[in-house]
Amino acid sequence: MSTPERAPERADPEPLRDLPAGFRVYPKSMSAHPSAAPISDTRVCVTGASGFIAAHIVRDLLARGYRVRGTVRDPDRKADLTFLTALPGAAERLELVKGDLLDAKGWDAAVAGCEYVMHTASPYQVDVEDPQRDLVEPAVRGTRHVLDACLWAGVKRVILTSSMAAITDEPDNRHVLTEADWNTKSTLDRNPYYFSKVLAEREAWKMVKEEKAPFELVVINPFMVIGPSLSAGRNTSTQLFVDLARGAYPGILSLTWGFVDVRDVSEAHVRAMETPSASGRYLCAGERLSMRDVLRVMREVGVRGKLPTLGLDNAAGTALVKLLSWFQPKGAGSYLRSHLGRVPAYDNGKIRRELGLEFRPARNCVLDTIEDLRQRGLIQVS
Ligand code: NAP
Repeated sequence: MSTPERAPERADPEPLRDLPAGFRVYPKSMSAHPSAAPISDTRVCVTGASGFIAAHIVRDLLARGYRVRGTVRDPDRKADLTFLTALPGAAERLELVKGDLLDAKGWDAAVAGCEYVMHTASPYQVDVEDPQRDLVEPAVRGTRHVLDACLWAGVKRVILTSSMAAITDEPDNRHVLTEADWNTKSTLDRNPYYFSKVLAEREAWKMVKEEKAPFELVVINPFMVIGPSLSAGRNTSTQLFVDLARGAYPGILSLTWGFVDVRDVSEAHVRAMETPSASGRYLCAGERLSMRDVLRVMREVGVRGKLPTLGLDNAAGTALVKLLSWFQPKGAGSYLRSHLGRVPAYDNGKIRRELGLEFRPARNCVLDTIEDLRQRGLIQVS
């Protein structure tokens, strides 16, 4: 597998500025960051390039010297895409082309001449009007469209952004989750976003294993992705912090997540592409934090707003919130009923061993997320 030659280590991406007292910046050496490699002829297609995770992948690929072809739904919205087109190396090595997951057209051209394809595009929303139309169709048909195009383009390896949602929709701390686990419980009515992710990943494996697609498939299964955003927009996972600050939660709920920084998720994708021996699925999650833990950090650094104080993270609180969940929008309601009171247990050893990935400490991910949201005016810090 040809990869561009590595140049000496380059500096980390730009540090977060104007840190209020109490903030710690994540140490630069924790994960090998992209180096200013010589310009390469290797072209990589990144689908959904304007997304939270994909934008970091685009940046890291450019920094490593690759040529990148990113797909976006509307490449003519140039003003909204400057956060990509202004990236270092973008003027010379980034092209943006149209790609709509629901439309078979355009994908052959998008992947033509690409050695690798990072398929990250997929709708990420908990509540939608019509789960089949709005989540499952774009996720599954989109995966099929992109991978079908790869069949004919001589693509060597596809890296698919799946999710922890394809591993389980009901974590259980008596069972340590690994890459061998599959979510078998989600449906259109129960965690439909999870359903879309498990169906899309299964579709990709079906093409490779049963239909003998000629490319390799490597899958990244991230848990809760947070960290700084390259675009001005909001994203579903960091919205948790905004919602906590604006008083959207009635109390401190018994919810626990495995956090992973978006920069580590990007690094995982690039390593999955560059490591010849990479194979199968990679559970991608660092440390766990509960909602109470997250709130403690938010308070410590002075996040202002209506942070919840009422402790509902006990048996009685969980029973009450489960009851109230029936009055929530369908997606949020089923998420609460399947996650409240459950502490996920998982083993991230495979990605650390095989791709050499080290995860940023969860507390640092939270601090960097708060700082990013503060800089973008989405939360206030005193
Ligand atoms: P995001 O910012 O919402 O990115 C989703 C991307 O998919 C966007 O670029 C979006 O394009 C694109 N997309 C959605 N529907 C599309 C369609 N019909 N046609 C073409 N493009 C479409 O969310 P993200 O967090 O970066 O998610 C990226 C991937 O990571 C997704 O596959 C998601 O399931 C997965 N993931 C995310 C997390 C997390 O916590 N964030 C965790 C695990 C897995 P527009 O910008 O045009 O809407």
